[in-house]
Amino acid sequence: MLDLTTKKIVERKALRINPAKTCQPIGAMYAALGVHACLPHSHGSQGCCAFHRMQLTRHFKEPIMASTSAFTEGASVFGGGSNMKTAVKNIFELYAPDIIAVHTTCLSETIGDDIKTMISQVQPDVPEGKYVIHANTPSYAGSHVTGFSSMVKAFVSYLSVNSGAKSERVNIIPGWVEPGDMKEIKRILSVMEIDNILLPDTSGVLDAPMTGTFEMYPAGGTKIEDIIDAGNSKLTIALGTYTSEAAAIELEKKCKVPMKTLGTPIGIEATDRLITELAILTHKAVPSSIEIERGQLVDLMLDSQAYFNGKKVAIYGDPDIVLGLTEFVISLGMIPKYVISGTPGDTFAKQINAVLATNEIKDAVVKGSADLFELHQWMKNEPVDLLIGNTHGKFIARAEDVPFVRVGFPILDRYAHQYFPIVGYTGAIRLIEMMSNVILDKIDRTCPEEDFELVM
Ligand code: SF4
Repeated sequence: MLDLTTKKIVERKALRINPAKTCQPIGAMYAALGVHACLPHSHGSQGCCAFHRMQLTRHFKEPIMASTSAFTEGASVFGGGSNMKTAVKNIFELYAPDIIAVHTTCLSETIGDDIKTMISQVQPDVPEGKYVIHANTPSYAGSHVTGFSSMVKAFVSYLSVNSGAKSERVNIIPGWVEPGDMKEIKRILSVMEIDNILLPDTSGVLDAPMTGTFEMYPAGGTKIEDIIDAGNSKLTIALGTYTSEAAAIELEKKCKVPMKTLGTPIGIEATDRLITELAILTHKAVPSSIEIERGQLVDLMLDSQAYFNGKKVAIYGDPDIVLGLTEFVISLGMIPKYVISGTPGDTFAKQINAVLATNEIKDAVVKGSADLFELHQWMKNEPVDLLIGNTHGKFIARAEDVPFVRVGFPILDRYAHQYFPIVGYTGAIRLIEMMSNVILDKIDRTCPEEDFELVM
């Protein structure tokens, strides 16, 4: 437990304790799993691959399939070229994916392996109509978020083509969200009758049903032919600066597909922006079923406002998700007190500060590249009423007895989160349910007996 975390804050420059991030290849692996019949391949030692698979398995409670170049001493000294050659040959022979998505690790990056050249050298072992692509994901830079972004961009760089036959489809890059969120985004697009390509799409892969038969490649995932055709779409919408914008920019550069970046549609305002954009695109009114969902959310926001208004919140996690959550808690009348991310980059603080300034919130602490130890110390000095973030915050929540809502990656100690969205109006309704439940639970647990109420 973290009961002994000190209140006194000492400035640290070269040390992170419980950073709010994990390593790049995990993001690359997750992105690759969102492409149909794709096998993520870790170019490095077996331990890295085992760790990345384990972390994703623990989050999704699903077996995560991935292969490794299995570096030993020889490859560590002479480079992993021959390991890559053997791996590609074996993978296509044994596991028959349609595409192998190679990501690097700290070791192969430190050696300086030239993956692009290696991929060109293994082409004789790549069956016709199959592909090998790669993204560089050294973990001493960036985070799982940048690894995800780089892999999505790599799919576009290697595969998307502008054939000259323009289509009416819209590319949606959903960013790092749960399979349930991807499904919800597709549902919204379907209700609005928008023909789309969602890249990546882990729904139907990491929330696949138990059928009694092992499926190496479940039915879901973006089809390779759709990634190729994404170069002909009329627009790309990137949902999230950090996780999605790079691929959208690449599509614009490579295939001349215009792009627009919106935030991850978490909360009423971000969802409004997405729905408005889609309505403009289709030249149609917003369907009444979507208006009803929005109305239900507004109703719930009003019903529950007594428990949210004026409450202080600490939020940590991935930049695109934290940005959406920050805006949403403000719309509920809450006050974001501490807002942090572990992913490096100045954009995060700029985006959060802009939202805070718009809403005239002045004394929040905002920090990218931060860690949970300092967040805990801040909370000891000035407590909050609610903590929102991934599983790693449970120790702080217990030590400080603060209501805690698990959102983001990883969630290692709860079930079913991958099935239910937090995006869109229905996702916002779910967030309100989760937040109000933990706040009301604490009131029930700690209030004097005479205040213990049946109706709240
Ligand atoms: S060595 Fe690098 S890539 Fe491998 S698990 Fe550690 S941080 Fe991640």
